[in-house]
Amino acid sequence: MSDIVSYSVRHSRTPLVEQRQDFAEIEFAIDRALGIGEFRLAYQPQVELATGQLAGIEVLVRWDDPTRGQVSPLEFVTAAEATGQIHALGLWIIEEACNQGQRWRDTLLGAAALSVNVSPVQLKAPDFAANVRAILGRTGFPPDRLVVELTESALVQRGDPGFETLWELHQAGVRIAIDDFGTGYSCLAYLRDLPVSFLKIDQSFVRDLPHNESAAVIARTIVAMGRGLGLSVVAEGVETEAQADFLKGIWCNKAQGYFYAKPLNSAQLAGWAELGASP
Ligand code: C2E
Ligand code: CA
Ligand code: CA
Ligand code: CA
Repeated sequence: MSDIVSYSVRHSRTPLVEQRQDFAEIEFAIDRALGIGEFRLAYQPQVELATGQLAGIEVLVRWDDPTRGQVSPLEFVTAAEATGQIHALGLWIIEEACNQGQRWRDTLLGAAALSVNVSPVQLKAPDFAANVRAILGRTGFPPDRLVVELTESALVQRGDPGFETLWELHQAGVRIAIDDFGTGYSCLAYLRDLPVSFLKIDQSFVRDLPHNESAAVIARTIVAMGRGLGLSVVAEGVETEAQADFLKGIWCNKAQGYFYAKPLNSAQLAGWAELGASP
């Protein structure tokens, strides 16, 4: 099964956001891409470590720009945040994901949930939660099967505009994951104050497992704390069997990474699921 993602081209280019004189052009290109449907979604499975079953699917946006080639989401999401286009792009991603999730609901999705990445800028829009509820209504996708992944930098304190948004989403039944856990700051207050269901251990902590002693202690501690708080802990960037075995041994709930599957298009994911979730 070939990977639909190849970033070798991207690395040889000047990052989009650094091409300042090019900014109006990028804004135009993103608008155009939204208009003609050039963005697409990739899907990366998450596996339940205890059983090897499909536990979830992370949605990752992709853009094959006809002139720039494949552009990294880190670049165009940053550009779209700066221009405000992230609001339209982000809602398109959620609607497309929910439509796909609805098609998969009675087949490969089973009990698994669909995770979408949401930028801090999106969260601050006062109508974000209402827009998500409207998408759920239109697509029929059940709210409790949708997970919103937020990086720690997106998270908010009581009184911030995003704080209400998170509680509104929670009240609508949508679940929340903290992404890249351990790389931000004051993360423990978030766990106490926000309705979080999932913790995703950042791949930088997974990379050096199982032999690096500090990495092992950190992973063990995050899993113990997460599970102690009643959260489901997901390890990201799992690339080897040794990492998977270690994570299973410390009772980490779920894993995601190239060891199981790269981000796939919808047909590839269906094929992967048919072969059985275990690698
Ligand atoms: P992220 O949310 O932390 O996503 C995980 C990234 O790690 C993805 O890169 C994924 O392809 C990659 N990855 C997965 N498994 C492995 C592995 O085993 N090893 C390694 N080395 N990498 C792995 P991608 O798709 O390039 O996305 C990069 C970032 O761009 C994401 O980080 C997220 O912050 C952002 N992004 C992607 N899609 C969206 C989106 O739809 N909306 C928003 N707001 N941001 C997005
Ligand atoms: Ca993520
Ligand atoms: Ca992550
Ligand atoms: Ca990340």
